[in-house]
Amino acid sequence: MIIAVDGPAASGKGTLARKIAGHYGLPYLDTGSLYRATARDLLAAGHDLENVCEAVRAAQNIDPATLDDPKLREPGIGEAASLVAPIPQVRAELLAYQRRFCEGGKGAVLDGRDIGTVVCPDADVKLFIKADTSVRARRRFVELTANGLTITQAQVLADLQKRDERDRSRDSSPLVKAHDAHLLDTTNLDIESSYKAAIELIERAYGDGGKTD
Ligand code: C5P
Repeated sequence: MIIAVDGPAASGKGTLARKIAGHYGLPYLDTGSLYRATARDLLAAGHDLENVCEAVRAAQNIDPATLDDPKLREPGIGEAASLVAPIPQVRAELLAYQRRFCEGGKGAVLDGRDIGTVVCPDADVKLFIKADTSVRARRRFVELTANGLTITQAQVLADLQKRDERDRSRDSSPLVKAHDAHLLDTTNLDIESSYKAAIELIERAYGDGGKTD
C-alpha cells in the first residue's frame, strides 16, 4: 500500500505520515528532507542556490545517512530548500530517488508537496493536510523554540507564508491538492485526533486490505 501525504509547511503532515507508517508497518520517507539536504550540501560546498549544475550534483549525491541531521530542520534550510525545489533538473533527480524508495517492498508512506500529483499519482490513498496559517506558525514556533532556537512567532509566520507562496506558484510540480486526495483540516485537532482522523480516512478509502501484517 502506497500512502501519499501532502500539504503546506508545518501542516503536521510529517508527524502524521510517520505515525501512519508505524501503524501499517511501512517504510516512511520525508521527501522535504531530500530538498533540504540538497540545499544544505550545495551551501556547504560554497555554491549559491541558483547554481543549477552544482544543485543537480548535490541532489545526485545525497547521503541517506545524513537525512536525520537536526540542522536540516533549521528555518534557513527550509527557505533554501524552497529555492532549489523549483529547479526541474533537481526535481528529476529527487523524483528518481523517491520512486526507488517505493519500489520492491510492500508499500511506503511519503510526505511532501507533490506526492499525490507527481511522485505517486497511483497511490492507494492520498491525504492532503491543511491547517490555518496562524495555527501552523504557532506549532512551528513551539517546535523551534523547544529545540533552542531564538526566533519570534511573527518571523515564523512570515517564513511560512513566503515559502507556501513559492511552493504554490512555481511551474514545476507546485503544491496543489490532487483531485482524488482526501482533505484533512487539522486546525482544531491535536496530534492524536489528527492521527485518528487520518486512519479513519485511510481505512474508509482502502478498507481492511490496508493492513500489511
Ligand atoms: O516539507 P519541508 O518543509 O521539509 O520541505 C522543504 C521544502 O522542500 C518545501 O518548502 C518545498 O519547497 C520543498 N519540497 C518540494 N517537494 C516535496 C517536498 C518538499 O518541493 N515533495
